Amino acid sequence: MTTQLISTPTPTRTYPLVEFFHSLQGEGAFSGVNAFFIRLAGCTVGCPWCDQKETWSAKRSPRVALADITQLAADARPGIVVVTGGEPLMHDLDPLAQSLHQHNLRCHLETSGAYPISGTWDWITLSPKSFKPPLSNNYAQIQELKVIIAHPDDFQWAEAQAAQVAPEIPKYLQPEWSQPQSQTWIFDYILQNPQWRLSLQTHKYLGVR
Ligand code: SF4
Repeated sequence: MTTQLISTPTPTRTYPLVEFFHSLQGEGAFSGVNAFFIRLAGCTVGCPWCDQKETWSAKRSPRVALADITQLAADARPGIVVVTGGEPLMHDLDPLAQSLHQHNLRCHLETSGAYPISGTWDWITLSPKSFKPPLSNNYAQIQELKVIIAHPDDFQWAEAQAAQVAPEIPKYLQPEWSQPQSQTWIFDYILQNPQWRLSLQTHKYLGVR
């Protein structure tokens, strides 16, 4: 399958924006940190348990000017800005990351890694999906690995992913929300495999975005 980026010239740059909100980062190493989320539309990965299926079609979301997105983030004065999706790397993120950095914002990216990494980031969370695996070049560029566990077979996938990243990269296992039993599987697995850590979707437990 080809990996074609959706690109427009920078001065007229817009991105299909599903939503933006100011909350806490719920997951991974920055869990609990004041975060402004920019959720871009478009995803071809096709996870059956995806809780953001409304993001899959970029045509369903309004295209918002880069300057306006940046201003929304800057006005929130967050600890970090998290660019997520959908699969945000379906878009050329160079202009967005540059613009956010020009406002002295710390920029994080959450991606499946299925498309080439664009933009310069302070932190990249790779959440690889077996339905459309990451590009091999992307593993060396991340700061955090987060694998969703929806089935016991997913631990094998998680180990295969961990083998692709540097030993010092923190590695998280996160229960798939609609499969509560996955919490027990992960608990037991980490007790046997201490290189892994637990990531919970703490925002969902708090009942916030
Ligand atoms: Fe949903 Fe993310 Fe999977 Fe895309 S990569 S289908 S947005 S869970």
